[in-house]
Amino acid sequence: MSELRFDPLKKRWVILAPERRRRPHEFLVPQSGTPEQDITTCPFEYGREALTDPEIMIIPRDTPPSSGPNWQVRVVPSRFPALRVEQELSRDGSWIYDRVSGVGAHELIVEGPEHCLEMADMRHEDIQLVLSAWRARLRDLRRDVRVRYVLIFKNHGAEAGAVFSHPHSLLLATPVIPPEVVNELQAAREHFERKERCVFCDLVKHERQLGERIAIETDSFVALEPYASAHPFETWLLPKSHGHDFASATDDQLAGLAGILRDLLRRFRVLLNEPPYNLVLHTAPTPQPRPGHPQYWSTLELDFHWHIEIVPRLTRVAGFEWGSGFSINPTPPEEAARYLRKTDPEGERT
Ligand SMILES: [Zn+2]
Ligand SMILES: [Zn+2]
Repeated sequence: MSELRFDPLKKRWVILAPERRRRPHEFLVPQSGTPEQDITTCPFEYGREALTDPEIMIIPRDTPPSSGPNWQVRVVPSRFPALRVEQELSRDGSWIYDRVSGVGAHELIVEGPEHCLEMADMRHEDIQLVLSAWRARLRDLRRDVRVRYVLIFKNHGAEAGAVFSHPHSLLLATPVIPPEVVNELQAAREHFERKERCVFCDLVKHERQLGERIAIETDSFVALEPYASAHPFETWLLPKSHGHDFASATDDQLAGLAGILRDLLRRFRVLLNEPPYNLVLHTAPTPQPRPGHPQYWSTLELDFHWHIEIVPRLTRVAGFEWGSGFSINPTPPEEAARYLRKTDPEGERT
């Protein structure tokens, strides 16, 4: 059974997942290299649905195949879940140690039936279907009162932690809010308390005025390189209109997001030669009541603003970064934005 433990010195939660246990020799595999590429054994191929656990949901194709199952996006439970729905929620601790049982969910979103069709190659409409699967799972998992947060993310390429090469994204529903999100929520709330404005709306307005860190801008979204980018070509995608919750995003917004996401991934490919990358969706948590703090979430709808963060994995974390919490980024965000602006998303790879 997995559990979450809180480190009182580092102020962070860790998920201990003994079901994913590895013995020391199993860590000795090469740390780089490509994930399982073999289409003949891939459990996510069309017609091989029996190789995974029963699906949680599917989104059918707009033109159904003449025979066989009809799906374009398919959501299945992870075979080696770090967290499980079936587990009881318990919170306890002793001395300064806190633990929470590993209740939650761990799901895999198969983004399409084709093994080699990366998100950057997909039709705009099919990327939108992936995004609507994210939205549907978010809405559904929120109904479980034990779930405090649903983190949706994507690992692309073995160096970014991908285990499968078939295009997929992942979801972890957790009984505590992840620390990265807590930091953002607190910063956003503090800004709102002082200024009565959303910090993200302020950021978008300011960066659009300056322009130097904007990589792509469309009617409804901006892709920008954050002022203090921790990694080369770290990029945030933000909707221009305020909204705290991805679960409330409209179909039009998902279409706009699909467009800019595809554009950005294609520019990464051209400029950085198909880099491994991580993508994460930051949206509002489930605003569950906090004992003694009845007003705790009262400004959430006004102060938080959902967005996506993407980091191409171009550098490795070393001792200094690990030990200090500093990042050393060799590419200033203004330069990264300039390169991305100049790149033709339909161009040849460099
Ligand atoms: Zn496959
Ligand atoms: Zn906002």
